[in-house]
Formats: sequence, C-alpha cells, structure tokens
Amino acid sequence: MTPEERERYSRQILFRGIGEEGQERLLRSHAAIVGCGALGSFQVVALARAGVGRLTIIDRDYVEPSNLQRQWLFEESDAAAALPKAAAAASRLARINSACVVRGIVADLTPANIDEFLEGAQVILDGTDNFETRYLINDFAISRTIPWIYGAAVGSYGITMAVLPGRTACLRCLYPDPPPGAQPTCETAGVLGSVTAAIAAVQTADALKILTGRAADLRARVTTMDLWEGGVRQIDQPAPDPDCPACGARDFAYLEGRRRAPAGLCGRNAVQIHERARPLDLERLQAALKPLGEVRANDFALRFITGPYEMTIFPDGRAIIKGTTDIGLARSLYARYVGA
Ligand SMILES: [Zn+2]
Repeated sequence: MTPEERERYSRQILFRGIGEEGQERLLRSHAAIVGCGALGSFQVVALARAGVGRLTIIDRDYVEPSNLQRQWLFEESDAAAALPKAAAAASRLARINSACVVRGIVADLTPANIDEFLEGAQVILDGTDNFETRYLINDFAISRTIPWIYGAAVGSYGITMAVLPGRTACLRCLYPDPPPGAQPTCETAGVLGSVTAAIAAVQTADALKILTGRAADLRARVTTMDLWEGGVRQIDQPAPDPDCPACGARDFAYLEGRRRAPAGLCGRNAVQIHERARPLDLERLQAALKPLGEVRANDFALRFITGPYEMTIFPDGRAIIKGTTDIGLARSLYARYVGA
C-alpha cells in the first residue's frame, strides 16, 4: 500500500475486522454488480469508496426521472440525457475513486453472456428486479463456486441473504420456483429509498467480509426488514436442502437456458415474451397498473400503454410488447410491470 492509500483507507484499516491485510486484499479484489438501480447504485458507490480494486456493473436500463428518488448515484442530467445506468455509474465512480477500475456493461445478463461478463468476480451482488436473473446468478454462482448476495426491496419491505456455495443454503433451497402470478413491483407498489439503502448496506457489508478474506465471519442468516410498519429481523438460514434442484441435484436449468422464457421479435416493431404456465389475474393487474398509464382488460387480454410502449398481456403470462425490437428492454418492461 502507498502512504496515500494508507491515509485514504485509515479508518477502515483501524477497524479490526479488516485491518491492513484486509485492505490489501480489497485493493486487489473484484466484485460484480448485476443491476444498477436502487440497490446496485448504492452498492457500487460503497464498494468503490471502500477501495475495491475492480467493479463490473451490468445493467440493461436507462436513467429515468422516477429513478432519482432512490438511485443515489444518478443526477438530473443523467435522466435528462437518458444515459444507460451502467455508463452513468462508471463515469460518476471515476470521480469518486479514480483508482477503482470500473467496467460498465449495458446489457441484459443472459446464459449466453454470463461467463464472459462475470469472469474473475470474487463476489456477485444482486441489484436486479426479477427472479429469472436471480436464478441465473444462483446457478452460475453454485456451478462456479462464487459467493453471491441476494437482495430485494419493494414498498417498505426488504430481504437479503448471502449464498456461499458449499456452505449455506441457496436461493432455490428457499424458493424452488418463482412466485406465481403478477408480483408487486416498485412500479406498481412503490418503494421507499430508505429500505433499498438499508438492504444494499447489509449486502455491501457481507461483500466486504468475503473480499477481505473474512467469509468465516459471515453468519448464514436471512435479514428482513419493514422500515415503515415493522422492524428488522434476522433468522438463521435453513441448512442446504439436499433435494434443491440447484445446489443439491446440480441441475442448472437457468444457466443452461432451459427455464428462461423465450423471447423473440414479433412483427415489425414488437417483442413477444413466451412466458409459460404463469397464470395471471388480469383484473388485479389492471387495478395495479391503472395509476401508471392507459389500461384496458377483458377475459382474454390486458392492454397497457406506457410512454412509447404498448403491452398486451395474456392470462397465461405471455406478452407482446410493441414499440421496441430490443429484447432486453422488453424483458425489463415485463419485469417492471408484471413482476418476474
Ligand atoms: Zn439450494
């Protein structure tokens, strides 16, 4: 460490859990953040400030005015220019810690690119908004023995848990299948910036334990919180489930793309998402989407117009998104408004 580094990180070096050796490791470490929204934008700043040497940030979305209430890293100018979040994050981080090597990737994480994008990462932090990507990360992390840290928040509620392959339970031990039907999302149920920051802070602390070589200090717990109506709760994780399809049977259906709802171009300017066996209550979904745009539903389909996009959603979960030929964007709209 140089004298400048020793001064810059002095308060963290003084902290017994990290020390000089832990800081040295951090400076050489590499973390990947999937999703740079409310959780991810907090995580990347916290990790860059802590001195993590290398950050890979993957996000498929663009900064919008409605992000600014909770996505700490972004400013009005980013929303005005509709910058990709991964690119806006990389340029802001360069001013916060110029020694941190940041790779911002504007893309949808898929089974086809996950090996390339996450190569070399010593920990993966979940900043996503959908179960499909989380299960993909879970499969990848277990098959490659890389720790990852699950986190989610909506409304005033949040949950996080670290997954250490070979030691703790994994996401599919807890949730073998995605939740059925339409799920509340930040778009339909709202979200408090304070709960996303609190969850991201817990995720970051767990990441620092892993990156400083102190994973043994990490207790296998599930942390939940409701910052409006309830409090903070930590319970011990269940033991790994020997019948878990991912960490038990090592059947990596999401990593191999077998469980990914196929999506493809459909017509001149539309994408179809062939989500299967995901029965939706269109009446309830209509009520949730009503404040957000024009919505009409009958027994056969729901039509929702938001900005330049028109989504037609069917009771079996299938959807056609008009107004784009970008499959990643179509998946993102689906995750935001239907929940995935
Ligand atoms: Zn498992």
